[in-house]
Order: sequence, then C-alpha cells, then structure tokens
Amino acid sequence: MAKYVFITGGVVSGLGKGITGASLGRLLKDQGIKVTMQKFDPYLNVDPGTLNPIEHGEVFVTDDGLETDLDLGHYERFIDEDLSAASNVTSGKIYEAILKKERHGDYHGKTTQVIPHVINEIKSRFYKSDDDKEVAIIEIGGTVGDIESEPFIEAIRQFSYEVGKENVCTVLVTLVIYLRSSSEHKSKPTQMAIREMMKMGVMPDVVVCRSELPISDEVKGKIALFANIKKERVIQNIDLDSIYEVPLALKKEGLDQRVAEILKLDLKKSDHKEWLKVIHNMHNCNKKVTIAIIGKYIKLHDAYLSVVEALKHAGYYYQTTVDIKWIDAEDIESKGAEHYLSDVDGAIVPGGFGLRGIKGKIEAITYLRVHKIPFLGICLGMQLALIEIMRNVALQKDADSVEFNAHTSCPIISLMPEQMKVKDLGATMRLGAYKCRLVKDTLAYRLYQKEIISERHRHRYEVNNDYRKILNENGVILSGLSLDGRIVEMIELSDHPFFIATQAHPEFKSRPDHPHPLFKGLIKAAEHLKRV
Ligand code: GLN
Repeated sequence: MAKYVFITGGVVSGLGKGITGASLGRLLKDQGIKVTMQKFDPYLNVDPGTLNPIEHGEVFVTDDGLETDLDLGHYERFIDEDLSAASNVTSGKIYEAILKKERHGDYHGKTTQVIPHVINEIKSRFYKSDDDKEVAIIEIGGTVGDIESEPFIEAIRQFSYEVGKENVCTVLVTLVIYLRSSSEHKSKPTQMAIREMMKMGVMPDVVVCRSELPISDEVKGKIALFANIKKERVIQNIDLDSIYEVPLALKKEGLDQRVAEILKLDLKKSDHKEWLKVIHNMHNCNKKVTIAIIGKYIKLHDAYLSVVEALKHAGYYYQTTVDIKWIDAEDIESKGAEHYLSDVDGAIVPGGFGLRGIKGKIEAITYLRVHKIPFLGICLGMQLALIEIMRNVALQKDADSVEFNAHTSCPIISLMPEQMKVKDLGATMRLGAYKCRLVKDTLAYRLYQKEIISERHRHRYEVNNDYRKILNENGVILSGLSLDGRIVEMIELSDHPFFIATQAHPEFKSRPDHPHPLFKGLIKAAEHLKRV
C-alpha cells in the first residue's frame, strides 16, 4: 500500500506549502522513492479553468487535459513527473460528483450530508496504489481553521485511521512571526494553528516553520512541546532567494529523514546531482539577457508563472541571468513598440484570451519581425504572429481571428469545421497533450532534435488551412503539423534569425533540470543578438 504525506497550512496562506511538498517530493524521489502529488483546493469552482488569471494566477494544464491550479506546475517541475486529472480536486468537483450521484439515486434516498457523503467523496479521491515504495504527497489548500477546509481535515483524520497511522505523515507548514521591535520570534500563532488541528483530531507529525530569520532552539522547543513531537521534527524553512534552493535547504534541516522515519521508508543515498547542478548554474551566471513578456495580465506575474520558470530554467542552462521586462500590451498601443522593445534581446507573446491588448501585441510582433529580434510566440502569440504577417506582409489588411472579428473577410485563425457545429463554447477547447510532427531542416526540428514531439494545449481556435499556401508564399514555414497533417502546430520565418511560434504551451513541460528546447533556443538567440 502507498504511504501518504498530508501538507496543511497554518496562520496565513501563501507560505509555500506547495513548494515545501514539492521539495520533499524531489528529495524522496532522488533517494529511490516513487512519488506523486495531489492538491485539494477548498474553493467551489469545479476547476480553475474559468478563474481570472489576475486573481488566481495561471491555469496549468496536465497531459490528460485537466485545467488545474498553478501549484501543480511547481509539483511537476520539482518532482519531474507528469501528473494527471486526478491530481487536482476542488470542493466544487466533490460537490458536483455528490449532487450527480444524489440526482441519480445512488444514495438510495438517504439524506445527503457532509458526513458521510462529502468526506467519503474526498477520501475516495486520495491517491491509491498497492506499491509500498510509493508516497503520495497531498497538499490541502487554504489554512487550518478556514470553514472551507474543515471537511478535508476530517477526511485526513478518518483516512489515517483507516489506512493505519503508520502510513500517514502530517506536515503543518506555518509562519513563525519575527517581531523586529523586540528582535524575537513569536510562536503563539503557530501554537494556535496546532491547537486548531488537534481540535479536529489531527496531530501534526512535522511542523515546518517559515520565517525570515533562523529560529532559536528555544522557540523550536516550545513548538515541539505544543505539538507533542520531538524538537528535530520542528523544521525551519527560512526565506531564500529562489524556490529551487528550498529542497536542499530542507534536506539540511532533515525534513526528508524525519518523514522517512515516520513512514518507515528506506532512503537510498543520493547526492542530488542533477538538482545541485541547477543550483550551481543558478549561482554562477556570468551573462545576462533581457526578455520581454508582452501580455495583458502582467499586473500579476503569476498569471505567466510557467513561462517565467521556463525562462529561468533555460537561463540556468546557459548560466545566463534572464531579466524579464514586463510590458502591458495596451501601453504599446499608446506609446509604440519602439519605446518598449528597442533595448530587449528577445521577446515572448504568451497565451491569452479576448480582445484587450491585441492591437499592442500585433504592433510588438511587427517590431520584432522587422528588427530581427528573437521572438517566441505561444498559443495566442502564434495566432497573432500569423495575423501580423497576413496584414503586413501578405497585405490582407482585414486578416484576423474569428475570436476578435467574427465577420472578417480573411479569417486566418478560425474554428475547425467540426467545431463550428458545436454550440456550447466550453466544449470546443483543445486541452491536454497532442503529438506533432516536425519538418526536417527547420529551426523547430533543430531545437527539439526529434521528429515527433508532444506538447500541451489550451485553446479554441486554429490556423485556417485555406491560408496555408499564402502563408508559405509570404515566408512562413509551417514547421510542425498534427500527425494527421490537419492542424498547424508550429510556424517559423525563413528570413529571421529566431522567429518561431507554437499553438501549444511549451512552458508547461520545462523542468529546471530539463529546460525546454524552445526556451533554450530563445535564450541562445538572445545572447547571440547581444554579442553581434
Ligand atoms: N484565445 C486563443 C484561443 O482560444 C488562444 C488561447 C491561448 O493562448 N491559450 O484559441
């Protein structure tokens, strides 16, 4: 049977429970344990797909096409495993399932209640496996004490009893506040969080204390006493410059060892070589490039989290610091592209939905194309690149996507014929991993160094195949097509040093120790531009 680590949060949200869990996952995986991760979110949205990126950050997409919380991206980047639709469960999803069962008569007329129905539904979604070398690290969103997260804590209590306490380790990630005026740490809020958990019948086995400065033994002792645990199980997790430093910092504090003791795991020796290399490169960057991200959700950088991380990974690979220049596409509309882009070494137009900012993004692409500045277009970024070329190179001034102009005379980006028959927009998104065949002798092929690739998608519109010929005639190489040849997946320009775009979201597959080829390509091209 699998073993379980539940990660809960105390005092305040935003303490990096996800990073703590993912770091533990990486440490265990490097030491021979199979790990998987799940996130249970207490909010009522059925999935995060419809949440506003400004409010909630990016929507991450799994291979099997689930739109998930951005924490899943961190999990994948740290543990280097592809997760699935079972990895992100929201209260909304739980209630949706229960109400469907109730309508279907599955509960045989019994009153449908939080206990047992909601709790049972939660428990049934905790990862299952017969492999005792496998550890599922399960993060519970929110903070203990929130009304919404109570059912999840109750589910942990019942589940621990059912699978045996020896198979479960509960980690509370909490904040230890530092009072500057009196130069001391205060553990009271942490004590309250521990008490709150205990009230619900769950004892934390390990307490991870986030804090600005090192915590004294005395404070650790207080927390240990309160939680009924040995002092070694109070682990400090001090603010660091980069999230990628967290795994090895937590190892130094013994987090992996404590969890292994509790779950009786045999850890093989590991020097965490690959991770160390990433950290080494990160600290030894001797070059610098500036990459623009031209978007419309730039107020919250988390809206482009995976793009930012993918840029960092590629930067580490080349020991190059990547400075991101955030550009609001609407500002380009008022001040012009030159004003913002004349000093960048490369640029990304990332994914997006809706009309706002489109004009500015297209102006930016014109500038990047004409001035031969390295450009990577992602999803909407590819669609806009083609609109730009149709308008300004092929001189079809009305060229557009039907997303922005349903009646354009030149719908270069459109719905596929079979999608047009579907009336419900929600059902027409292409989500998850799709394979693509790259054309030999293209930039795309040189970067990926293989013919068949797989990337994750999240979009509704596609390149209109009626325009393939005219695109070709205007210097666009269709460098990647779906395996059946019907869908344009990647494009590039023949007379530009690095102008490449993809209908997919390559950022979701970049890992710190395996940077993505397109991002590597962009950084290399940007460096080259800087040198010449
Ligand atoms: N809005 C575009 C579409 O739906 C692009 C989506 C995206 O960039 N993820 O096709």
